[in-house]
Formats: sequence, structure tokens, C-alpha cells
Amino acid sequence: MPFCINLSCACVDRLIGNGVDKGNMHIVQAGMEFDVLRANNKIAHENYHLLKEHGIKSVDFMGSIGAGKTALIIEIGKRLVGRGKRVCVIAGDVTGDDDFKRFREAGLDAVNCNTGKECHLDARLIRKSLAGMNLDDFDVVFIENVGNLVCPADFPLGTDYRAVVVSTTEGDDMVRKHHDIFLHSDIAILNKIDIAYAVDVDPETIVEDYNKLTGGLKKMYKCSVKKDEGIDEILAALGF
Ligand code: MG
Repeated sequence: MPFCINLSCACVDRLIGNGVDKGNMHIVQAGMEFDVLRANNKIAHENYHLLKEHGIKSVDFMGSIGAGKTALIIEIGKRLVGRGKRVCVIAGDVTGDDDFKRFREAGLDAVNCNTGKECHLDARLIRKSLAGMNLDDFDVVFIENVGNLVCPADFPLGTDYRAVVVSTTEGDDMVRKHHDIFLHSDIAILNKIDIAYAVDVDPETIVEDYNKLTGGLKKMYKCSVKKDEGIDEILAALGF
């Protein structure tokens, strides 16, 4: 009898798909992952309502290390400050305060949020960060998630939008390799289009993969934060 510990539902499904009869499996704590995700979603829901009670618009930016999340948030944040919006950024990282310092140096309010060792922020960490802020002081909260294209996908934080940022320098196969995060985000942003040629990547390949995956129901926005291209379209897509 296959003996399975801490399996996710997906893993059980895979075993069944491979011909293993579920009746012959002895599964221990198979529901654990489901319970963790359900608990996260409940707190995310509470975060969402807390932000709405204070009239705050929020975006969770996900993406790999080096995709350009910090630079993009700074650019968007500065534009919104220029329009009179009060912006705060929650800088998520495993350890350290490098991005937090960059936000502060750019003139944005910021809160540092370290996960310790986890590869993603979760709704509980955001609840804690929000509790330390005076929410009446802000109109917009941006969250920079921990840098990777895997773990953050499963953990909504309670924001209005979830945006995934990828860059051409990561290669042209990001969408094909990471379906979940592209399916779980509201919009996708393809950064560093100005240097795609240098890494021999055709941005259209990435866009085509995205359109195929999402059935054309969502849009991937091309931009270059460095060259100040495409930023206004992203702002509009996020409802600003
Ligand atoms: Mg960063």
C-alpha cells in the first residue's frame, strides 16, 4: 500500500492519475496544505476589508529577484505621489532591508517585512504590517512580494490587484514554466524590453505564451522602467 505523508491534493490526484487506486492509499495529513491555504485566504479576506474600510487601493507585486519590481514600484509610486496620492510600500524579503531603504531613499513611505525563511509573504504577515501603520495616512498600499515565481502564487494577501512582473533577461520561457503565478495574477508586466536583444529574447514570444495560457482574457503589459516606457499603461491597468 503506498504510504503518503503530507501530500497535497494535487499530489494525490497525480498518484491516482498514474494508476494508483485511492482506496489502496494510506494518507496521513493529506489536508494540511489545504488547511494552510484556507486559513491564509480567510485572513486575506479580512485584510481586503480592512484596506477598503480605510479607502486604500492595494497591489501585490510578485516576480523573480531582478525582474525589476522595486524599480517599477518606485516609478509608479512617485507618479502617484505627484498626483497627490499618499503611498506606502510594504517591502517583503526573506531577510534584510535593501528594498525598504530604496523605497525610503526614493521618498516613499515604506514598511519592512521579513519572512525569516519563507519564500513568500502571507496574509498573516500583511495583517501584522498593516497593524503597525496608521491606515488613515494612506490612499495606496503597494506590496513587494518575496522574489520568485513559485510560492507567492498560492498566497493571496487581500489586495485589489495581484500583478506579476517578469523581465526579458529571465529568458523567453517564464510563462511556459510558471503557469500558476500567471493564472493567479490579474495583470502581467514584461519589463526590460529595451535590452531583450542583448539576451537574444523576443518579447513577443513571452506575450504569445501568456495570451495562449490566459485565453486572451488578461493582458501582458510591456515596459522598460529604465527607459520610462509603458509605465502609464500599467498605471491605467491598475485603475489609477
Ligand atoms: Mg526588489
